[in-house]
Amino acid sequence: MASQEEVFKKLVAHCKEYGFVFPSSEIYDGLAAVYDYGQNGVELKNNIKRYWWDSMILLHENIVGIDAAIFMHPTTWKASGHVDAFNDPLIDNRDSKKRYRADVLIEEQIAKYDDKIEKEVAKARKRFGETFDEEKYRATSNHVIEHQKKRDALHARYAEAMNAMDLAELKQIIVDEEIVCPISGTKNWTDVRQFNLMFSTDMGSTADGAMKIYLRPETAQGIFVNYLNVQKTGRMKIPFGIAQIGKAFRNEIVARQFIFRMREFEQMEMQFFVKPGTEMEWFEHWKAFRLKWHKALGLGDHKYRYHDHEKLAHYANAATDIEFEMPFGFKEVEGIHSRTNFDLSQHAKFSGKKIEYFDPETNQSYTPYVIETSIGVDRMFLSIMSAAYCEEQLEGGDTRVVLRLPEVLAPVKACVMPLVKKDGLPEKARAIMNELKFDFKCAYDEKDSIGKRYRRQDAIGTPFCITVDHDTLTDNCVTVRYRDTMKQERIAIEALHKLIGDAVNMKNLFKKIVQ
Ligand code: ATP
Repeated sequence: MASQEEVFKKLVAHCKEYGFVFPSSEIYDGLAAVYDYGQNGVELKNNIKRYWWDSMILLHENIVGIDAAIFMHPTTWKASGHVDAFNDPLIDNRDSKKRYRADVLIEEQIAKYDDKIEKEVAKARKRFGETFDEEKYRATSNHVIEHQKKRDALHARYAEAMNAMDLAELKQIIVDEEIVCPISGTKNWTDVRQFNLMFSTDMGSTADGAMKIYLRPETAQGIFVNYLNVQKTGRMKIPFGIAQIGKAFRNEIVARQFIFRMREFEQMEMQFFVKPGTEMEWFEHWKAFRLKWHKALGLGDHKYRYHDHEKLAHYANAATDIEFEMPFGFKEVEGIHSRTNFDLSQHAKFSGKKIEYFDPETNQSYTPYVIETSIGVDRMFLSIMSAAYCEEQLEGGDTRVVLRLPEVLAPVKACVMPLVKKDGLPEKARAIMNELKFDFKCAYDEKDSIGKRYRRQDAIGTPFCITVDHDTLTDNCVTVRYRDTMKQERIAIEALHKLIGDAVNMKNLFKKIVQ
């Protein structure tokens, strides 16, 4: 069996070969951690965005959307804390000249202890068979206890250092744990330094006095600065939410793992404004809602888990991540944060404007608290692609690569194929496609054998292939071939619309979420 790393490499190659994701400006050898979406990628991405947007805007009468500009007044980022505190601790290895995030190196070390523990447990499970009492083993095995002690001590020390942003202590942890550079294998580290992740540029001509502005590192602030506009013009009553999808930019220190960590990426964020004191209730509500949204896609419930934050950001009083099992382990796809009234209060302070909510029931004004749900479109894209990518052995020794994408998200819903390029079959196929194309993204393919055409569609995840043959001309039926089962069925042309429509209707997912 191929290792996870090999599978991931194949997935990246597949994304390029089939028009999902290309390296940016590839003819100039690309630009690190920047990617372009191709003809199929953009369809999948748009479908993901629509699934998210409609789940917010259609399913909630108290959530509205906005589309704020990427450039914002520079004071925004003073107020939000990003100018002073949006830093990662970086460290260089002098031999390999590679740069790392100190926190990531330490977290990987913690994960190594976890791995050791799991390996011990797995070994014991094998040894003891059915009589194995895992809980007891974990509590009594000397090996496990020893690893667990070391792990917990390291974890406590790390959390304290991160909370205090004690750079010298982070370095000391790396030294004490004897962490080596994965490239050079040496411990020849520089000191840990802070690195601000915001990109900046100049607005206006120099003669006028150019202003240094930032490319937004998150979309959330565009929502906060519009809180009053939306609340007043929309006559919104608390609790209510504002949703937004848009680009964000971060000068990531280590940009690896394909579209998992990019320097230009897209976020889907929703800020939900609530009465102070009710935020924990709403935090739990959104935690549960967002997980249901993920699971409704049917990629496998076991592939998700929550990860509560050890180190809370400067603005948060509770935070959790929804992690997905990528080929390189469980990784954050979405963050759910209770942001208190930090952002609105800061903007009130820096702008001198009163940013509050007048509660008509109590005749009192207050600064609302905020629950944020923040998900990266690109990470969502990657999680779906990794769950969908499948290499299958077929009977007769053949293999196929199939993308088992959720039908609602598939870039192409149906491919119409005349069996041969003559006898009026192409015309009939075109006529069928012309009816379907108003509602579904369809493809037309008349080249090569039917088998080859099926494989091409499997590779981009098309759920339905529709073959027009000579009998179609007289019986008005076609052969529908299903992507996942490869089963074929003879179906009346007039039944096609319903067949596809039922399978790709987002309503089916929404019902799973809200029931
Ligand atoms: P990480 O710890 O992985 O750097 P984060 O905790 O800084 O992520 P948030 O600031 O909570 O991320 O951003 C919300 C979401 O935006 C993340 O869950 C992720 O899906 C996405 N995201 C953040 N940074 C990137 C990036 N560099 N590339 C792609 N997506 C990103």
